[in-house]
Amino acid sequence: MAPLISKLGGEIKPSATLSLKEEIRTLGKEYGFKIINLTVGEPDTGPTEDVLEALLEGGKLHKYGPVQGDPELREILSGVINKEIGVRYDPQDIAITVGAKGGLDILMRVLLEPGETVGIMTPFWVTYPESVKIAQGIPCFLGSDGGLRPNPEKLRREIENKNIKVLLYSSPCNPSGVVYTRDELEEIAKIVKEKDIWIISDEIYAKFIFDGRRHASILSIEGLRDNAILVDGPAKRFGVPGWRVGYVAGPREVIKALIKLQGHVNSGASRPAQYAMRVAYTSQKAKEATDDMRQRYERNRNIFVKGLNEIDGISCIKPEGAFYAFPSIDNFFGAKYEFAGKEYIIKTSVDFRNFLLRKAQVAGVEGAPFGMDGYIRFSLATEEENIVNALNYINHAMKELHI
Ligand code: PMP
Repeated sequence: MAPLISKLGGEIKPSATLSLKEEIRTLGKEYGFKIINLTVGEPDTGPTEDVLEALLEGGKLHKYGPVQGDPELREILSGVINKEIGVRYDPQDIAITVGAKGGLDILMRVLLEPGETVGIMTPFWVTYPESVKIAQGIPCFLGSDGGLRPNPEKLRREIENKNIKVLLYSSPCNPSGVVYTRDELEEIAKIVKEKDIWIISDEIYAKFIFDGRRHASILSIEGLRDNAILVDGPAKRFGVPGWRVGYVAGPREVIKALIKLQGHVNSGASRPAQYAMRVAYTSQKAKEATDDMRQRYERNRNIFVKGLNEIDGISCIKPEGAFYAFPSIDNFFGAKYEFAGKEYIIKTSVDFRNFLLRKAQVAGVEGAPFGMDGYIRFSLATEEENIVNALNYINHAMKELHI
């Protein structure tokens, strides 16, 4: 018998989005399927040449760097935040982290005592509850009774009742594509101020906003400086999720504590990747590549969401940003289908996801790990051809469901 591992180590959920990759590969192999994979949470194109070249050059930085991150990059990010959000953060108030995910993890440990509560707006990115648990906090799901937009009235009550210390959301939202309006943010800001709680704003999809709308950030609302923390990073906008760079900006005390922890957790983000980010955030080519992605994903959204809504029983709000579609599919709970000589019944979003995998050879991610079991998430960060084909295949497969 081996010694025991921790309760956390045993119980923590694997990332649903990352582990699905493996399942899809196995199914594809078993039945010889060519699956259209709409599960991935990453852009379909990589960085521009100039950024790649900078990464190679950055390879010369082989020694440990400053734990807080490359000072020049922090200077650049200070300018980026000022330009894009409209607030000035001193480079001292910015920490470069190992992905936005790495920033969020350390942030939770900096903000929480064991047993304290984090209010997570539902639906949410799959990692949020787990990163709260890793920090011994308790995740509380807010607004989990249906709607995809925040409801300030209800939010105020929930924050009071559940004694929330930290409020956490992403806008544009992964998975729903909802982008909070300035009015909604003003309402949330009022509550945050009134209750004097922390607010973490994850804006990693801010460059992917559609229909000519502009990004609004809660950080730009007056009087919130002492409560608000920004989590962001280059993974999505420059197509470099594998380079593992992110950043956190916020009150100096928070950033100082975060750096102390980071010095022990990972010593900071990869130096070559940070060096390359100096170029990415200032390169015209990289800016154009981001714009190009946004336009393609917006076109994909138009085609896919229209097509989904034409299928009887499926309904999908028009995502205003990010690169996902998040339709409701609970009308099909109770429906049956046959596959490989067996009958299956759909009872959950996992069952619906498996139905699509088997009968349409289209992969999405079930809504359950995002906090909404009646839904499924599809990524739109792919070629238009895949979007069109996936719609056709889904349409055909739906005809084989017996309601
Ligand atoms: N926040 C959200 C909302 C995300 O969807 C993701 C990636 N899927 C991240 C943060 C993590 O980003 P990174 O790769 O920089 O850790």
